[in-house]
Amino acid sequence: MATAPDQSFPEIRDSVRKLCARFPGPYWQALDRDRIYPTEFVGALTESGFLSVLIPEAYGGSGLGLGAATAILEEVHRSGCNGGASHAQMYTMGTLLKHGSEAQKSAYLPRIASGELRLQAFGVTEPGAGTDTTRISTSARRDGDHYVVNGQKLWISRAEHSDLMILLVRTTPRDQVAKPSDGMSVLLVDLREAVGRGLTIRPVRTMLNHATTELFFEDLRVPVANLIGNEGSGFRYILDGMNAERILIAAECIGDGKFFVDRASAYARDREVFGRPIGQNQGVQFPIARAHVQVAAAELMVQRAAALFDDGQACGSEANMGKMLASEASWAAADVCLQVHGGFGFAEAYGVERKFRETRLYQVAPISTNLILSHVATHVLGLPKSF
Ligand SMILES: Cc1cc2nc3c(=O)[nH]c(=O)nc-3n(C[C@H](O)[C@H](O)[C@H](O)COP(=O)(O)OP(=O)(O)OC[C@H]3O[C@@H](n4cnc5c(N)ncnc54)[C@H](O)[C@@H]3O)c2cc1C
Repeated sequence: MATAPDQSFPEIRDSVRKLCARFPGPYWQALDRDRIYPTEFVGALTESGFLSVLIPEAYGGSGLGLGAATAILEEVHRSGCNGGASHAQMYTMGTLLKHGSEAQKSAYLPRIASGELRLQAFGVTEPGAGTDTTRISTSARRDGDHYVVNGQKLWISRAEHSDLMILLVRTTPRDQVAKPSDGMSVLLVDLREAVGRGLTIRPVRTMLNHATTELFFEDLRVPVANLIGNEGSGFRYILDGMNAERILIAAECIGDGKFFVDRASAYARDREVFGRPIGQNQGVQFPIARAHVQVAAAELMVQRAAALFDDGQACGSEANMGKMLASEASWAAADVCLQVHGGFGFAEAYGVERKFRETRLYQVAPISTNLILSHVATHVLGLPKSF
């Protein structure tokens, strides 16, 4: 039974659903248990061209907009799969596409579109800086034709399963620039060459299977040819990509929300206690109905943000609001779904507890709810800045 209108991109949605049906719950449960990367699933998405929808046709992609990409990730999540292993390829590529030189784009984008190269890693967060990105201390010092990178990153997902990484570094110390956001630069790091030659990657085990890692840089040499855009303007390039990232992650939350509402409704229809389906009790029905309403409302904001983005209009506030509403709706739906399943909600085989853990992430990453509220308060409502 449909829980919200799915009218956009019906053919893409149908193909994604068919692909996802080849990767049912037991596949994900087995990987989750041992925190193994879903290589076969990511391979199937790549082969079907779903990860290159945002790459222009001139570079071998299908040149579709963010609306199509959100439909793909939503269906992945609604099917019980998880896009976290591969979604970065969609938005990380935008930094290269928008700010890279023609030589960089022709060298990398066609190979990313074909699946020959994986651009899955995005290195911004540091333990000492947290959300205050201007405080990053990973530095890149110019030495002839190379930058020499030193420092540490934390929570860098998929670094062990990627060939390339978009890396944010400081090229001028914070106390020597006019604005704290100046003096940062973006480097395209070839991980195949870097690991063992100045870069060490250490996995971090988390409450979900997200292949996240800690990175240590000790005199890693990166060719100056791998600088994206201008030295010192990197923070702006990263911010540019964040709207796409937030909208895509919000679409994953919408998919999760629908998954939970679908599962809760189905279980409430079938499970009989006291001689009748539990879903006949309004105490069980209403929370599921409320979760559906919340997901459907959030979906509208996410669709609006994607439409603005595809139209080339400013969409920062809508992207943030969509991400917040969608992550809260998916978490509320997760809680209801677990409750409706009673004890069975905790059983690994039902797949609900895994998705419950997975969807909780989105209120913290890629941006936490408080920081979204702060954006809305200061940028939309004109309230004074608190930091
Ligand atoms: C599984 C996982 C995968 C990730 N993958 C990546 C990745 O691939 N690449 C990458 O670069 N990063 C990644 N991240 C990092 C993620 O983007 C950050 O964890 C997130 O942005 C929050 O930053 P933080 O953890 O440093 O929290 P902090 O900045 O330390 O904040 C902690 C808490 O305090 C709140 N807070 C902080 N300042 C304020 C304030 N002024 N007012 C009100 N509240 C405040 C925050 O909202 C948050 O709830 C990942 C994180 C996780 C957990």
